[in-house]
Amino acid sequence: MLEDDHPLDPDRIVFRPEDNASLPRLKPWRILAIDDDIDFQASLQHTLKGANILDRPVELHLANGRQSAAHLLARDRDFAVILVDVVMETDDAGLRLIKGIREMLGMVEPRIILLTGQPGFAPIEDVMRDYDLSDYCLKSDLAKRGLKNILTGAIRAYHQLATINGARKGLQLILEASNRFSVARSVPDMASAALAELATLLGIPEEGIVAVEGASVASPPNVAGAAIIGAAGRYAPHIGQSIAVLPDTSIAQLLADTLAERSSISATAYQVLYIPRQHALADYAIYVETGRPLGEPETQLLAVFAANAAKGFSNVALISRLDRMAYEDDLLGIPNRNGLLREIERIRLSPEGHSAQLMLVDLDNFAGINEAFGVAVGNAVLRAIYAPLRILFPPPCIVGRISADLFAVLGPESKVDLSRVERISHEELHIAGQSFRFTVCASQIAVGELPGEAADLMRAARSTLRRAKRQGQGSLLKHDPQVELEAGARFELMSRLAHAIEYDQLELHFQPMVDFDTGRIIGAEALIRWPAEHGGVGPDVFIPLAEKSSYIHAIGNRVLEQACAALLRFDAAGLGGLTVSINASARQFESPTFIGHIVHTLKTRGIEARRLKVEVTETAVVENIVRLTSQLAALRATGVRIAIDDFGTGQASLAYVHLLPADLIKLDMSFVQRIGRQDRSEAITKIMIDMGHAIGADLVAEGVETEAQAIWLRKHGCQIGQGWHFGRPMPLPEFIAFCLEQPS
Ligand code: C2E
Ligand code: CA
Ligand code: CA
Repeated sequence: MLEDDHPLDPDRIVFRPEDNASLPRLKPWRILAIDDDIDFQASLQHTLKGANILDRPVELHLANGRQSAAHLLARDRDFAVILVDVVMETDDAGLRLIKGIREMLGMVEPRIILLTGQPGFAPIEDVMRDYDLSDYCLKSDLAKRGLKNILTGAIRAYHQLATINGARKGLQLILEASNRFSVARSVPDMASAALAELATLLGIPEEGIVAVEGASVASPPNVAGAAIIGAAGRYAPHIGQSIAVLPDTSIAQLLADTLAERSSISATAYQVLYIPRQHALADYAIYVETGRPLGEPETQLLAVFAANAAKGFSNVALISRLDRMAYEDDLLGIPNRNGLLREIERIRLSPEGHSAQLMLVDLDNFAGINEAFGVAVGNAVLRAIYAPLRILFPPPCIVGRISADLFAVLGPESKVDLSRVERISHEELHIAGQSFRFTVCASQIAVGELPGEAADLMRAARSTLRRAKRQGQGSLLKHDPQVELEAGARFELMSRLAHAIEYDQLELHFQPMVDFDTGRIIGAEALIRWPAEHGGVGPDVFIPLAEKSSYIHAIGNRVLEQACAALLRFDAAGLGGLTVSINASARQFESPTFIGHIVHTLKTRGIEARRLKVEVTETAVVENIVRLTSQLAALRATGVRIAIDDFGTGQASLAYVHLLPADLIKLDMSFVQRIGRQDRSEAITKIMIDMGHAIGADLVAEGVETEAQAIWLRKHGCQIGQGWHFGRPMPLPEFIAFCLEQPS
């Protein structure tokens, strides 16, 4: 009956053993008595008050029925013995409670003693067995048999069972712990695993310190300077510090004592485990707070744990040593080739990874030093070269050595710069009474330039370095993807390009050119695309390749045809005023029929010559100044307009500029990017604009990406703008739609 089940107090601790702070407190035997007979409960209290069983005090809890017992057990199951009255609310309430305790709560360790008021309620034998009941007792017999005797038997049975189960569980935990230790890859890793596993093993919070003696194999142990290699919980901020900085000096002292005396310390509230050098390759001390003394089985488990941890520590020490052998240069203790490759992979994953730079630095005249002066002098030279490199490229830059006299620098774009390397050339080194002078060759590549494997990046940098060396001592060279394209890759790309030309897979995209004054689109630059679905690459890769062969002529013809077709489509769309600029390579002008072909094509299509513009780079013109100026002049005479592309990058000196037959000057985007910078950049951009005007040409600014750039350019005399700010290059239908959408 539920009503009867209002507990006296469901979780009432009737008495506790006396608190005696000076003695380590032994955990009492906790006993639960479930009985609705108040008199009986009173007599239990009386008998057990102050009792000691098997050297430990007894703590009695009472519940006055099945319901209140269930409440209590839902929260607290840590009992050694449970006394259960068979008949409570119902005739079988006790038995049902026991079934619940064993089967539903899964409490297998507590010993259960069945009590009954009347004879004749004795449980049958299979109930005793099924529910693992320890004893059965008539209440009236209790006095005769002695409650304490009955409890002593039950407690002894419980203790044995709990010890066995505890050890089994502990061993299982230790097994799991050593599995976890085996995946640790560094000593700090291992230290934090040890603290975590110790917490699980002892059922304590993950909090503690792992200290390692501040000694290498060579130097004498330095106990006071022991370092905190692992820490958890409130000690975590001290990782990497000396134990001397611990705010609680007594803990520092305990760790130092453990290391000095080479033995563990076991106290009521804490444990300091000693892990010896013989097994762990260094002396470790692990401090954890237990808040209670450890029992015999736990102490034994701790010994097994310590042995496993020692093995774990020695493994990671060996791993780090192997790691060092694999990734470190043993002469200078800096990353070797493998170490650098690993750093490149790591840097790639960081947010600034893309712009990071790899630089290779090679001594020009090192060969022969080892033979002539001996290895010791050779090594001294390498050390003497490394020192200034380290100073020129301080952390976060990484300086490594790839092979004999080949160094590498890896770091952010702002720090790694070829011009700095120049400073080590020609420095005089005095070594072993000799004086040496070295120059260096160097190459540089952006980590983001080759997205493949780090080794590919390294290979590209070395290939650039070889080119630098061929140019002579002291040469510094930046990686150029075009030049570096390996012969094999070049051949492969070339044949794919031939296929793309044959199957007419190349197409033009159109980027708007905008009049700064009116904000209107006046025309488009036609930019060639090799679509990726046909295995294409960017024009900055395949155009220079095509220029090395006759393919450039085929491409040029296709571009001209498509540009004319686009002009006709503009007319059809009511955009008759628009012009199209095509790009032409210097090689195309070598063809004696080039100009005639343009004129003929325009004529047969009925297109006015002034609607076509031909862009030639300033570099192309300057390199072929005599031939090209006359040809450009001839083309211009037909009405086709000429634009000088990438103006400012071709070193056209003031002497040449007035010779350029141009209607338009396209200011290179690198000058546009200088706008807004605080240094002299803007002044330089202004000078370039003025130079363009000196020829009497209109100025087109390329690569305009922001409103601010557009405003500045307009203010400083540019007439036309082109760039993402106005529109990206797009396929013809999209471009036409884009123009039609513009407000007129
Ligand atoms: P370019 O003639 O200097 O073309 C301008 C390049 O800048 C184009 O790259 C264009 O997409 C890009 N660009 C345009 N606006 C912006 C901007 O706001 N910001 C930035 N960062 N870039 C912008 P693309 O299309 O990759 O062309 C590269 C080069 O390939 C061209 O440089 C040109 O020299 C060459 N090329 C392209 N099409 C042809 C062609 O049909 N024939 C020939 N011979 N060369 C071509
Ligand atoms: Ca162009
Ligand atoms: Ca350009």
